[in-house]
Amino acid sequence: MLPNRRSCLKAALAVPLLSTARGRADEPPRAAAERIAKAMEAPVLRTEGLDRPVAIRSMELLRNGREFLVRVRSDDGAEGLSVANSMHLIHTYPIFLNRVAPFFRGKDARGLEPLLWELYRHDDNYKYQGLALWVCVAAAEFAVLDLLGKVAGKSIGDLLGGTQRREIAVYRASGNRGNTPEEEVAYLKEIVAESGAKALKFRLGGRMSRNADSLPGRTEALIPLVREAFGPETTLYADSNSSYDAAEAIRIGRLMEEHGYAFYEEPCRFDHLEETKAVADALTIPVAGGEQEFSEERFRWMIANRGVDVVQPDLHYYGGFIRSMRVARAAHEAGMLCTPHMSGSGLGYLDAAIFASCIPNPVPFTEYKGSADVPASSDTSSLKVEAGTIRVPSGPGFGIVIDPTYVREAKPVTTT
Ligand SMILES: [Mg+2]
Repeated sequence: MLPNRRSCLKAALAVPLLSTARGRADEPPRAAAERIAKAMEAPVLRTEGLDRPVAIRSMELLRNGREFLVRVRSDDGAEGLSVANSMHLIHTYPIFLNRVAPFFRGKDARGLEPLLWELYRHDDNYKYQGLALWVCVAAAEFAVLDLLGKVAGKSIGDLLGGTQRREIAVYRASGNRGNTPEEEVAYLKEIVAESGAKALKFRLGGRMSRNADSLPGRTEALIPLVREAFGPETTLYADSNSSYDAAEAIRIGRLMEEHGYAFYEEPCRFDHLEETKAVADALTIPVAGGEQEFSEERFRWMIANRGVDVVQPDLHYYGGFIRSMRVARAAHEAGMLCTPHMSGSGLGYLDAAIFASCIPNPVPFTEYKGSADVPASSDTSSLKVEAGTIRVPSGPGFGIVIDPTYVREAKPVTTT
């Protein structure tokens, strides 16, 4: 069953088989599980060439309007800057200020990777595990990576093992529910035309809705209608956001198979791993999931047990590039593909593109939800999606300059 499903996955995602197929059909399950666990534990961060300590002197949280930035400075005066996931940090920033930023002060930034584990243990931080902790850790990790990149003269992709591609094709994702199928098709036409994307994603079901649709019959009408409107050349993905139980998810998935969809995201409640696996086992369309996942052990389980076919860590919700890269590499070891879930706000689309530029096993299209909320420029990229593709910057760190006036006008955030 599994090799068959894997072949279907490759066919549906149009990825050359040899580029990712590392599953071994005759291997005992235990040996495969050990191989996957080892891939997940292997170090990610490359610090060659950083011969002297990069001591962190300060880590500040800044705010300009709704957006949050993190600025980290070393004793030598080097600086790293990141754009946080403001949509969630606005509610969780005391965790950043009280539990995350103070931990990094005085530490050698070159030890970032082992420090992530120490931070997780430190002062019982693991008890806060979930988006509330990991969005804060990701904001810090991004800034430290930018700092290290600037000191080493390397891009983030190169710090994470090496940029493998710089032109990232995107899929345009719609966030609508509750509109009519005809209205949604008109909207999809508009946003796909703006971006030039060759792939798109829209929403099915009612979101955590126990099988109820957002409008009666919307999903069954929309699946064939979108295919008809965009023709056979467009790659179509759809996301139920945890709408269904397994039986209903399979019924909807069959309809997607009939119309040649390329993946089916979060068919069942995101934390119902058995039901999600049952759907992945039953269908030939690849099942994608993982945007809400925050546990390394559960991701490892999902990969080792083929609980989904495509893993989707969110760089912010899951705590940063390094942890997400471990998931991508473990999935690669299992012959599975990975695609980042894109968080809204900030520069989420750029973070996702950078990740897709350096993982071994991306799907052909990476998520894009529209333009940036923070003014930034780059010498090596327009930072825009043009003809359905974004070029990943090649300069040190993120390879971008955030408008200095915007940064100057951002005010330090404190808990008092
Ligand atoms: Mg989703």
